Amino acid sequence: MTDNNVWQMTLDRLDATMDLLNLTPGIRKYLRTPRKILEVAVTVKMDNGDIDIFTGFRIQHNTNRGPAKGGIRYHPDVTRDEIKALALLMTLKCTVVGIPFGGAKGGVVVDPKKLSLRELENLTRRYTFEIINNIGPDTDIPAPDVNTNPQVMAWIMDTYSIDEGHAVPGVVTGKPIEMGGSLGREYATSLGCVYTILSTLKVKGIDTTDLDAVVQGFGNAGYHCARILYDMGFKIIAVSDSGGAILNKKGLDPYRVLEHKDKTKSVKGYRDAEDISPEDLLVLECDVLVPAALENQITEANAADIKASIVAEAANAPTTPKGEEILLKNGVFVIPDTLCNAGGVTVSYFEWVQGNLSYFWSEREVKLKLRDIMEKAFYEVYKVVQDKKVDMRTAASLLAVERVARAIKLRGIYP
Ligand code: NAD
Repeated sequence: MTDNNVWQMTLDRLDATMDLLNLTPGIRKYLRTPRKILEVAVTVKMDNGDIDIFTGFRIQHNTNRGPAKGGIRYHPDVTRDEIKALALLMTLKCTVVGIPFGGAKGGVVVDPKKLSLRELENLTRRYTFEIINNIGPDTDIPAPDVNTNPQVMAWIMDTYSIDEGHAVPGVVTGKPIEMGGSLGREYATSLGCVYTILSTLKVKGIDTTDLDAVVQGFGNAGYHCARILYDMGFKIIAVSDSGGAILNKKGLDPYRVLEHKDKTKSVKGYRDAEDISPEDLLVLECDVLVPAALENQITEANAADIKASIVAEAANAPTTPKGEEILLKNGVFVIPDTLCNAGGVTVSYFEWVQGNLSYFWSEREVKLKLRDIMEKAFYEVYKVVQDKKVDMRTAASLLAVERVARAIKLRGIYP
């Protein structure tokens, strides 16, 4: 993390929304305060025979509209403040797309690249054990995020199920298909992001032919965004990951780039492209820029140089408030994280529903239902933009915060 504190920035944005909604001081305090913060020591038996201890978090921001929901991240830069911010964003995101969940997030301070597979499994199972009384299919449902995947979800589900004495597939989403995962979940974040890009092009009256896209991050969200846009005829001129960035103005084939990354662990050095600096990637001439890596990538330091006309936030909190101010002044259309990457949690919700009913849908059905939800949410947010003359992020927050505030009032406070 940089010196841009993502929790403070998220609170500032929330405060600005609450000012516009004229909420009472009590409701404001309620929304600013996470419901539950759990910090645990994750003790792991390492391959060298010794033990190591990693710090883990699970934070529930709000559960007024349903069980808490949010991913688990493994990263050396994880902090309590980061997880608090991401949990709050999950509350807003679930509410923007109208799915019946609250917001949560989890994380472990660890560089998983330095662990063997066995150590990763040990870490995951011990972390699950440490938070086991706080998660569950009706209370708080984890999912994959940065550096976690369906295999990690399978280990969490197994550990939780052993403790319960029977299989509890609903405790996580983003599971492997073989054990109750949903078709389409793997690329849902990206497909949802692409639906919001297409809706943006529509309202701006831009034809979808001959458009250039740049994607930062080539993991789950970034790779599938690049792949889906490529399949739709967009030219993907540059992509990056934590190892480096590559550019080919004639266009990259994301499928081939992935083959290269699978072999070499990075997109860097791909033969049909030139290596460029990660900083240069963000300021390339293009139509759509998709930040799909981490927070604080577009800041006051580089926003003025960004030439994309649309920034689609597949990542969470990639743009700082000061960076966004500059983008908006320059006429860049920002599709905010709370809307843009909500496709992931939407298909997680589908997975939870399918699991509860033990009735599984076709991939086509998942995609159509996802499109309906993403388009409905996009146009609801866009209507607020037009009615209240605000930007997309403020509009999405206004919708979400008003809905959550209403749920708090309707449920009332116990006792
Ligand atoms: P991932 O671990 O699959 O991929 C992360 C990618 O970002 C990797 O390619 C990594 O190399 C790259 N990266 C890391 N630091 C970078 C840097 N400084 N510059 C360029 N690339 C860098 O994680 P993911 O699931 O794709 O998550 C990416 C973002 O999308 C996160 O902000 C996450 O919260 C958000 N998100 C993910 C989901 C999901 O379903 N996976 C849903 C909603 C939002």
